Amino acid sequence: MEDRGFHEECGIVGVFGHGNVVDLIYYALYALQHRGQEGAGIVVHNGTKTRVHRGLGLVSDIFTESQRRALNGRMGIGHNRYATTGKATKLRNVQPILVDYKGGKLAIAHNGNLTNAKELRRRMERAGSIFQTTTDSEIVLHLVARSKAPTLPERLLEAVDAVEGAMSCLVMNEKQIIGYRDPRGFRPLALGSYDGMHILASESCALDILGAHFIREIEPGEMIVLDADGIHSRMVRTGRQHSFCMFEQIYFSRPDSHVFGESVNAVRRELGRLLARRHPVDADVVIAVPDSSNSAALGYADESEIPFELGLIRNHYVGRTFIRPGQRSRVDAVRVKFNPVVEILEGRRIVVVDDSIVRGTTSRQLVRLLRKTGAKEVHFRVSSPAIQNPCYYGIDTPRKVELIRSRMRVEEICSYIGADSLGYLTTEDLRAAVKAPQSYCLACFTGEYPTSIPQEADPLVFDVD
Ligand code: SF4
Repeated sequence: MEDRGFHEECGIVGVFGHGNVVDLIYYALYALQHRGQEGAGIVVHNGTKTRVHRGLGLVSDIFTESQRRALNGRMGIGHNRYATTGKATKLRNVQPILVDYKGGKLAIAHNGNLTNAKELRRRMERAGSIFQTTTDSEIVLHLVARSKAPTLPERLLEAVDAVEGAMSCLVMNEKQIIGYRDPRGFRPLALGSYDGMHILASESCALDILGAHFIREIEPGEMIVLDADGIHSRMVRTGRQHSFCMFEQIYFSRPDSHVFGESVNAVRRELGRLLARRHPVDADVVIAVPDSSNSAALGYADESEIPFELGLIRNHYVGRTFIRPGQRSRVDAVRVKFNPVVEILEGRRIVVVDDSIVRGTTSRQLVRLLRKTGAKEVHFRVSSPAIQNPCYYGIDTPRKVELIRSRMRVEEICSYIGADSLGYLTTEDLRAAVKAPQSYCLACFTGEYPTSIPQEADPLVFDVD
């Protein structure tokens, strides 16, 4: 992903079991860190006590062995979080959020963004509600706590009726974990099992790391309850056009995950093949901007019959969140993050495949780097259409004016980044690469948002301070 300009907001996991669940949650969060690396938390309940630990940084730093030992529990939920652009994550905004209410303990872990969050929060504050965080997820907790319905699933149902936007979430009390996916299904949520325990997680790769069995994805509009009696599922909200986030396939999800009924790797390979057909070029070698573009670059190489090589080596220790405010930091990030392999690039005509161009800054730096290394020609190929609009459904996006395609034509972008040629996919290509094309949201490419967007809605996450 060019510029690291689009950021997934969260990864979530919940385990209901008979033994200690904290290690399962820990390793699942570890596998989901690409969805959020700046903070994480785990809430567990052991039959008598509910415990929470949350922190800033990487999962492995937050949950030391002694921390994990202190989180002994038979059920629990966890969360990975990204900061919003240019801001450091604040500890109070790290999830799961845990509160006490008249029914006992209540915790939430949420992936998505509510488009009517500001309006709801204003209304609640006027009515006397006090918020501990600046996240929209806390609004859901307030709605659940205020509901007069007799059971947690019914309370949650009332709450989700009041909210709009994207919501894959886990809500937990002392007896149940409830998973819910909004009726448009913007964000994924998978169900698995391990040694008689049930697991809910944002992506199937979190199940794989545990050696768990992938059962199925939670359907849009489905509520699933995990408790001592097993699993209870109900379709609670139906009749909406599905709006799966296409960027999960292009970039956010891990290629080894199965998301929205598809192998992410297979979709990306197909996007690469379509890209080679749409924008063929005479070249010596295909390289990827690693790692998120590897599958698409392999697809381009397959179709074009130009050999794929590892022309850029990524420094994995920089992390996917190496972004700080200001242009200068982004320039540094490219130099630190990618190292060119001279013997592959020198004197060659290169096709470089990236999954997207956001601001153009990183692409420009990459092309410069390739040329400095001796590349004879650099042909930039993008395995998505041009991003022209912000996202309101849980992806932290730059403002519209920062999106290079909203200011420049494709030829201008090509000249700005210094490439010999530039080619994007079209939205038709995206649709051709997936099994259920009508079920996807493409709003950041087309501007056709699947829900109404209140004027005051913030495309960035609902951080008001
Ligand atoms: S606007 Fe783009 S990033 Fe946001 S949900 Fe739709 S496809 Fe995904």
